[in-house]
Amino acid sequence: MAPSRRSRTLGALLAVHAGDALGAPFEFKPYTAIRSRHPGPNSAFPRTLTGGGFLSWAPGAATDDTDLTRAVLLAYRDAILSGDDVISKAAEHSLAWYRGDRWPGRRQGTLPRDIGGATRRGLSSFASSRDPSSSGAGQGSAGNGSLMRCIPTGLFQADPELLVKESQCISAITHNDRRCTIACAAYNTIVSALVVRGLSVEDAVSASERVAVSLEGGRPDGPVHAAIKIGRTISLEDLADKGPRGVDFLGSCSGFVLDSLTLAVAAVLDERRLDQVLVDVVRVGRDTDTNAAIAGGLLGARDGEEAVLDEWKDLLQFGPEFRRLADQLLTAQGVLPGEGVGQGEGQTLSLYSLMT
Ligand SMILES: [Mg+2]
Repeated sequence: MAPSRRSRTLGALLAVHAGDALGAPFEFKPYTAIRSRHPGPNSAFPRTLTGGGFLSWAPGAATDDTDLTRAVLLAYRDAILSGDDVISKAAEHSLAWYRGDRWPGRRQGTLPRDIGGATRRGLSSFASSRDPSSSGAGQGSAGNGSLMRCIPTGLFQADPELLVKESQCISAITHNDRRCTIACAAYNTIVSALVVRGLSVEDAVSASERVAVSLEGGRPDGPVHAAIKIGRTISLEDLADKGPRGVDFLGSCSGFVLDSLTLAVAAVLDERRLDQVLVDVVRVGRDTDTNAAIAGGLLGARDGEEAVLDEWKDLLQFGPEFRRLADQLLTAQGVLPGEGVGQGEGQTLSLYSLMT
């Protein structure tokens, strides 16, 4: 049976979080280093969320990918429940994360352990201008820092035109390079097609290609469309077994937005189980947490929360909060009935809170 919209919504959010936590111990390690530590096949690669890595994460901890996804999710909560402007709220919640202003798990006033260059420049600019339409780091800054946080728009903005607009504007708070803004719109088109419209993966990817071509001025050879087309041709299994050498990547999987989009498209078209695909995204190396968070979002949207391993869900720092917020928003949007749905689940005690 196909997963419900609620299951896909939760799956998308939890799999962003799980991909982030699965990849965090290997962040910036090249393929060869991961391969020499775990030389076996996919099935032998450890599924446990161990934490660690060069920033010494706790098991199941949110790194910047999940934290900023939470910031955008809180913006949709404010917009849907209180009528606030979602773009301004996304910028404000992201700035609260940057400044450590009442951010869970951080001492008040401390800076994040990890932050990308464009994100820092964009949020610093927003702190002084308070204008999210002019704060972006500029053309040429084409990291994956906005793609990694954009999924709440795909989940909670059902209007296709507003989805494209909000995806681009929320990206532009920090990443206003057109490759980033258009990648976010294309990615969220896949999310919405799977979660809201219930389309097949093939139709969802095709819809994203049409959006990319349209936003790239009708050119079929624009960079975002090219990245999606490369994703259609890649076998993640081969890539993870043999290494990324020789594959037609635009960058080197180390943080370039279009590489992450390519990997995510390859992941959602990969018919294996969610955990198998995510493990292979991590095995490819380099920006492992962000690549797995971005791919995880599409896989969770495809397969629903039942596909996210229980041992992962038990550890995720913001797992209970993401469930509670998703149910609140789906109820407010009339997708879930007003009473009795999801009760109790939001109170699941996170093992993470016991361990940290
Ligand atoms: Mg990260």
